[in-house]
Amino acid sequence: MDLFEKCYQFSRAKEIIAAGVLPYFLTVQENHGPLVKLEGRDVIMAGSNDYLGLSQHPEVIEAACQAAKEFGSSCSGSRFLNGTTTLHTRLEEELADFLGTEACLAFTTGYLTNQGVIQTLVQRNEYLISDKENHASIVAGSLIAKALGANVLRYGTNDMADLEATLKTIPIDAPKLIVTDGVFSMTGRIVDLPKMVELARRYKARVMIDEAHAVGVLGEDGQGTCAHFGLKNGSDVELTMGTFSKSFASLGGFIAGERSVIDYIKFNSQAFRFSASMSPASVGAVRASLRIIRREPERVARLLEISRQVREGVKSHGFKIIEGITPIIPIIIGDDMATFGAWKRLLDNGVFVNAVIAPGVPQGQQLLRVSLIATYKQEHVDKIVEMIGKVGKELGLIGG
Ligand code: PMP
Repeated sequence: MDLFEKCYQFSRAKEIIAAGVLPYFLTVQENHGPLVKLEGRDVIMAGSNDYLGLSQHPEVIEAACQAAKEFGSSCSGSRFLNGTTTLHTRLEEELADFLGTEACLAFTTGYLTNQGVIQTLVQRNEYLISDKENHASIVAGSLIAKALGANVLRYGTNDMADLEATLKTIPIDAPKLIVTDGVFSMTGRIVDLPKMVELARRYKARVMIDEAHAVGVLGEDGQGTCAHFGLKNGSDVELTMGTFSKSFASLGGFIAGERSVIDYIKFNSQAFRFSASMSPASVGAVRASLRIIRREPERVARLLEISRQVREGVKSHGFKIIEGITPIIPIIIGDDMATFGAWKRLLDNGVFVNAVIAPGVPQGQQLLRVSLIATYKQEHVDKIVEMIGKVGKELGLIGG
């Protein structure tokens, strides 16, 4: 059979397009902060990861422009060779200072960070213990580590009893890394970090946490999951990973922790060494976002307050949601086409959310992922809640 046969036979996307409910690859024609023009419609954006709304902040945009003016539009090479600028090294120092770690290393994307760090650190005959709902980039790193001879074990999501049972099967002195999302990207759940850290100490494992959806969101100053629980990055949790594509309103990723470990990754990670470095504009934007987050922690408080209001509002309509405090609010629909239908109806009512199906979530857990932005006006918050209720009633998802 021809290699391309599967491509010619791939009709699922075409069917959904024909039904007029494809929720993916929509074109944003204008972006005015929490309001966007999507394929001719003005809608409230409730499906982005720009949690603090900083992608529209004049200081961030100006910093991106300034960095491009000073250092050009591209680094045209990897960090290893010609692609390290003073912008990159300053960003790493500032981020380590913010998180309270000895050192930090900036990768080109968050995805590459997870892939690169895991593959580099967990080697032949060593152990990686990973939550089943961890992000695809952690899975990518796990697969490479496994192909190179590491043992990869997975436990039920945020299930600390299952994690302990898994740890018990591994020789106590075997080198091991537990890796988890801090805030799970599809359910908005926060990992039970205190228990995980306790288990890690007892079973002699290191911990790496993916803070993509936690930095700028959790902890009074937006430092993330450790701060939320009164734990420390760099000691209680040895490795803190994050991306710049969410609260930092840019593009890139980072790993932070003990200097000798970060240096090891810097010199040994293929993903780091063989990929061009973050563009100057991206670095400039992150540094400005970090400055604003540190100067104006009230943005984090506002985000959590909005999240509380939307969670309460959606529940008061009769929807069952996964309890929590984060700005990721999953509304489980449980079927592909029903999820797409609800997504479309919400869009027609002026609210854009994300429709998530497998493999983003397990089959039967298909959901609408509502994610919020700190810069909404109150009328936006109210409209999101109102329209979710209206669509829920119209489609019989909740009682009438
Ligand atoms: N980790 C998590 C938990 C994520 O949600 C994402 C992005 N959705 C990434 C890593 C990858 O980050 P990036 O988009 O910056 O590559």
